[in-house]
Amino acid sequence: MSKENSNSAELDVLIVGAGFSGLYLLHKLRGDGYNVRAVEAGPEVGGTWFWNRYPGARCDVESVDYSYSWDPEMDQTYEWTEKYPAQADILKYLKAVADKNDLRKDIDFNTRVTQMTWDEQTKRWTSTTDTGRSITSQYVMMAVGCLSVPKEPSDLPNFDRFTGEVLRTWNWPEDADLTGKKVAVIGTGSTGAQVIPALAEIVDSLLVIQRTPNFVIPTRNRPLNDGELDEIRADYPDRRRRNRAHPAGVFRSDNPKNAMEVDAQERHDTFQERWEGGGINFLGAFADLMFNKEANDAVCEFVHEKIDETVTDPAVADLLKPRSYPMGAKRPVIATDYYETFNKPNVTLADVRTNALATFTETGVEFVDGSTYDFDVLVLATGFDSFTGAFTQIDITGRDGRKLAEEWTHQGPATYLGLSTAGFPNMVLVANVGSPSVLANMITAIEQHVEWVSHMLADQKANGRTTIEAEPIAQKQWVETVEAIANMTLWPQGDSGSWYRGANIPGKPQLFMPYAGGVVEYEKAIDATRENNYSGFVTA
Ligand code: FAD
Ligand code: NAP
Repeated sequence: MSKENSNSAELDVLIVGAGFSGLYLLHKLRGDGYNVRAVEAGPEVGGTWFWNRYPGARCDVESVDYSYSWDPEMDQTYEWTEKYPAQADILKYLKAVADKNDLRKDIDFNTRVTQMTWDEQTKRWTSTTDTGRSITSQYVMMAVGCLSVPKEPSDLPNFDRFTGEVLRTWNWPEDADLTGKKVAVIGTGSTGAQVIPALAEIVDSLLVIQRTPNFVIPTRNRPLNDGELDEIRADYPDRRRRNRAHPAGVFRSDNPKNAMEVDAQERHDTFQERWEGGGINFLGAFADLMFNKEANDAVCEFVHEKIDETVTDPAVADLLKPRSYPMGAKRPVIATDYYETFNKPNVTLADVRTNALATFTETGVEFVDGSTYDFDVLVLATGFDSFTGAFTQIDITGRDGRKLAEEWTHQGPATYLGLSTAGFPNMVLVANVGSPSVLANMITAIEQHVEWVSHMLADQKANGRTTIEAEPIAQKQWVETVEAIANMTLWPQGDSGSWYRGANIPGKPQLFMPYAGGVVEYEKAIDATRENNYSGFVTA
């Protein structure tokens, strides 16, 4: 049982992070009877949806699917208002979950874990926080997020010279008001494509600094119609089951046909119909879009055509067309009025592949052709140190003094089933590297993990075992499997600089980090290992 004073605690399980993963873990494991607490660096629950408060922030999975499936009562009562939820709506939902289940009393907010050390004698972890707490626990659950550590702007030339205001999309000040200001945005990924149209509406001038263009699919967000939520509620249990049975963790009406098996007209009509429908369903237009280069070329050509139709200046349209990688190799972007925004008189596109950013100045930027732009506010939408960032920023020492940050920084991350890493017993990764995570509706991926963890802890107890850890050989094979499955698709191809591979961070080891086989195959794999007495793990 627990012993606790203001500076120390002894727990069965420590959860790091209070986003979707941490909150469900806390609820589930507390219900299972463990002495469990969560620590959260931020002042509030929500994770991603607390931190990313930039204008335009919105989820690209439908509200009714981007929510927990384990509370049927909430399914029947929670009032989603739009097809795709805005950041504030998701945060409101997660606060409601925390309140309904009285989760806050077991969360230490404004508390960052900075160090974790495994003690082989006691078979426990000691975690130290930036508030001076020391917490020991038998297990640590790393619910730290795949996209929770921003990329440093160290590769921006003379960035420190800029004396204007710098705003970061991943920690947007609640009181920021850019109305009537001269603004520049760096980054045209999913975040950039949402913040750019939103800012263009209110600022005096907007300079968009683009390095690699993205394929941007229209969201087609809308309010939920009268009665629509009632229909969904009547079907909710089946809807949840359908989501779990689809590789993407969310049901999509996928076309079973291959793009190159139909004639050009049918191909075009299908793309057009999906484009009008909007959202990630566009990716289900044909079965082979991520497997066959010719099919992918066809969808790229279609999006190029849409850019030409939308953007009035042909030179700007040309710069907005991605050409150096297959669609999907970088995460496809879903946004509203993105291409339309470049027709606005207050918006200027600066493409740094054709005219490199030479330097930041005190008042703005200068490009290699000598042109300069001044602005009051710079918005960084430059992405994340994905997957590994939240692990390597903690000083984690495993068995025999092994340092996780050193291993993962030099060799890249290695896990067995995305759940455990050899040398770090009783440390469980939640919906992160080595599992479907970001290639699925993440809520489905998170629920799979939390359920598995709950079973695993019960089995450990029932079998009188105290430790569990990835077996090195099984881990090596899993890393190879993750890479091999990715290599069967077009995901790893082209010059995309994708964060899926760590290619967005200079010097980061490159390997495909999420498991691309989908949540259905993945669930079979994690269930099989459990049914097989935790094959691939060393248990004691
Ligand atoms: P997070 O929400 O990232 O929570 C992790 C928490 O851990 C954070 O609050 C962080 O502060 C805390 N933490 C980290 N390290 C420490 C530490 N050392 N000490 C204490 N606390 C720590 N996914 C989708 O499926 N669909 C979408 O449309 C979608 N949109 C997204 C939009 C944005 C802007 C971003 C950034 C991500 C998006 N994602 C989306 C992915 C999203 O991250 C997941 O869907 C989900 O919210 C992840 O939940 P999580 O709890 O695993 O991680
Ligand atoms: P991102 O996809 O990594 O995009 C970062 C952008 O910054 C890229 O355009 C990148 O250009 C640019 N950039 C970085 N460093 C630069 C430099 N030194 N000079 C010029 N440009 C630079 O990050 P993100 O947009 O924050 O998205 C990350 C992920 O979060 C998404 O892929 C998605 O999974 C999730 N997300 C989802 C939504 C949603 O719609 N639901 C919204 C936001 C985020 P390069 O491409 O050339 O590197």
